[in-house]
Amino acid sequence: PSQTLPEMLAASVAAYGKKTALEFFGATTTYRELGDQVSRAAEGLRRLGVRAGDRVALILPNSPQHVVAFYAALRLGAIVIEHNPLYTPRELRHQFEDHGARFAIVWDKIADTVAEFPCDLALEHIVSVDITASLPLGKRLALRLPVAKARAARAQLTAAPTSKRPTAWAKLLTRGTLSRKHRGPQLDDIALLQYTSGTTGTPKGAVLTHANLRANAMQGRAWVPGLHDGEETFYGVLPLFHAYGLTLCLTFAMSIGAKLVLFPKYDLELVAAAAKKSPPTFLPAVPPIYDQLARAAARGTIDLTSVRFAISGAMSLPVATVDRWEAATGGLLVEGYGMTESSPVALGNPIGPSRRPGTVGVPFPSTDIRVVDPEDPSVDLPLGEAGELLLRGPQVFQGYWNRPGDTAETLLRGGWLRTGDIATVSTDGFVTIVDRLKEIIITGGFNVSPSEVEDVLTSHPDIAGAAVVALPKSQGGEDVAAAIVLRDGVELEPEAIRDFCKTRLAAYKVPRRVIVVDDLPRSLIGKVLRREVRERLMK
Ligand code: ATP
Ligand code: MG
Repeated sequence: PSQTLPEMLAASVAAYGKKTALEFFGATTTYRELGDQVSRAAEGLRRLGVRAGDRVALILPNSPQHVVAFYAALRLGAIVIEHNPLYTPRELRHQFEDHGARFAIVWDKIADTVAEFPCDLALEHIVSVDITASLPLGKRLALRLPVAKARAARAQLTAAPTSKRPTAWAKLLTRGTLSRKHRGPQLDDIALLQYTSGTTGTPKGAVLTHANLRANAMQGRAWVPGLHDGEETFYGVLPLFHAYGLTLCLTFAMSIGAKLVLFPKYDLELVAAAAKKSPPTFLPAVPPIYDQLARAAARGTIDLTSVRFAISGAMSLPVATVDRWEAATGGLLVEGYGMTESSPVALGNPIGPSRRPGTVGVPFPSTDIRVVDPEDPSVDLPLGEAGELLLRGPQVFQGYWNRPGDTAETLLRGGWLRTGDIATVSTDGFVTIVDRLKEIIITGGFNVSPSEVEDVLTSHPDIAGAAVVALPKSQGGEDVAAAIVLRDGVELEPEAIRDFCKTRLAAYKVPRRVIVVDDLPRSLIGKVLRREVRERLMK
């Protein structure tokens, strides 16, 4: 890459000025307007005291202001830190203790909560954002966001407050535009601290540079050659505060002059309403979203025939979902693979007839992979054997913020990133993710991949979701156990589910215990949290 993220945006403003950059509940922002707002917000933040290298925390749902704040902070050479606005005060406070940001730009629904963070934190300035400010009144009233959760979260906070008075976002924009001569960041400067999803433990802050993030958008561009610059409509249903949404929706869209339609949360009705006016052409999402959208499209309640490319990642994509999606929309659904530590995408299926459902495809351009012995990552395994996947490329991060021990374990000499995932590679180079190393179940000396068992379970027409975990046996050792969510109105005996598995899996993989539950704990992006399932089942 030769451009930092603000330089990339400036180039798109110059090339696509009058085209729509953002759409939010029908309200549009052109590239030129976006460039102007970024310059105003940057000047406002500069006057607030933001300097190169400062950390600026964002706690915002998807919204035009989120995009403006992101580029404005970067334009000043500051480091952006993305947060989930539905995190509880306790979770947010832990992250603030970790990164020590002095500035925070936050959703007005939780501004009071953040203002009352304990005074031993570095936080000094809060900017409060009403994300509905630019919408007509009728739309604002109709917009129901998950505010109740934010309120409930606030009530949990008991620590001594700092009581900082937030600055209003609108006021920040009135202080003029940033001088064009103001020095910007360099390619190798840190752009982002992006917390991992916390699937296996406490989220860690991954340090990503402008070069890392710009490289990944360029690699994405090479992955989807059928896109037309300046003509596409991207749907931003994934949160921008997660690496996947940030790169594949935001930076990617802005780098090719696309229109990005933003959704503050994924919701079938919101998507169906938006699709009538601005039909999507490119839709990055996750398997549960594709499954729901494909079922709705098959029923005729939503028209998604405009979507030419759909990209799935973050968790394994069932082949049944691919078939259902492609039958209902006529477009392609292909799977890729990545992690926060690689900006995030590292592998993808070729977009066209040579893609292979059930695999995560081949390495991105300029990306190398190895499959090694998890016990000793210096030992490469023969092709076809399952081992830990290592990655190397321009999108690989610089390390974890404030965690030299974790960094040393994860980032090996020569720039190789340990993924913690078990993979196999076919003789023609297609990669299949078996499971996370930490979640492989060892029972009676055999290795069981929970994903494989979950795939079998969810192929049952009456099963809506499944999580497979190891539960301790009273006499020592562990059993394979499955928590199952049934489809609405269905009844199914655990024994029948076990029988279904017995005809499809070797005996040692068949869950010894099958427990029907109402729902499964999921991460913000929809990953099943097996760690929490296990804790619940053990209670
Ligand atoms: P944490 O690192 O905090 O425990 P996390 O690993 O879930 O959480 P992310 O960086 O969001 O945080 O997710 C990366 C992980 O997601 C990968 O290591 C892999 O386990 C999983 N993953 C991503 N894409 C796929 C895919 N296509 N198939 C299977 N697993 C995937
Ligand atoms: Mg991880």
